[in-house]
Amino acid sequence: MFQELPDTLDRVMVIAAHPDDPEFGCAGTVVKWALSGKEIVYVLLTSGDKGSHDPDLRPGRMAALREGEQRAAARELGVERVIFLRHPDGLLENTLELRRQLSSLIRQHRPHILVTIDPWRHYQLHPDHRAAGQAALDAMYASREWGIFPEQLVDDVEPWRVREAYLFWTDNADHWEDISASIETRISALARHASQVSPNMEKLAERIRNWTHEMGKEAGYEHAEAFKRFQF
Ligand SMILES: [Zn+2]
Repeated sequence: MFQELPDTLDRVMVIAAHPDDPEFGCAGTVVKWALSGKEIVYVLLTSGDKGSHDPDLRPGRMAALREGEQRAAARELGVERVIFLRHPDGLLENTLELRRQLSSLIRQHRPHILVTIDPWRHYQLHPDHRAAGQAALDAMYASREWGIFPEQLVDDVEPWRVREAYLFWTDNADHWEDISASIETRISALARHASQVSPNMEKLAERIRNWTHEMGKEAGYEHAEAFKRFQF
């Protein structure tokens, strides 16, 4: 049940709604995979431009700040590339256009593993989190079909079949990644999102250690991240 991944699944795409979602959800696994040689790309659907209640901080300024924080966190984790699609924070929708954009990225980057937010989590109240997971999975499905978005299939671009999907923030975990060795790097990367996490970082770090410890219990790890995992 907890078998290791075959070595051939070496390209990973993480699709999330906001800067800091990956560090809140799955970054222990990201850094572990990066260290093992996997090539990891982040796709952020928004730039978190509504992530402040400060009326003096304009959305454009906020977006730039949060993109910088996300890039710094990604660098710390060994993520190769961070792509921002800059959809409006708080208003994300799983539109055909978004699905088309993501399908194009999947066909270009050809990830073996897709990591995203579980859109079916009960009472997932944040509409962006629901829309991000749904759009990512719909795009994953579209990208393998010849007949969907065929205008993308020019030059060397072919349909692409993602081999595995990992959903974080899930109610239906069936796979646990041991992050005992990477928990502190995950916390340190999360701290890069200073506009969101300071000045409560100490408490937050403790909460995250507790969460990942709880998640680990089921799989016999000191710290783990839990996923719903699909193999295709
Ligand atoms: Zn979020």
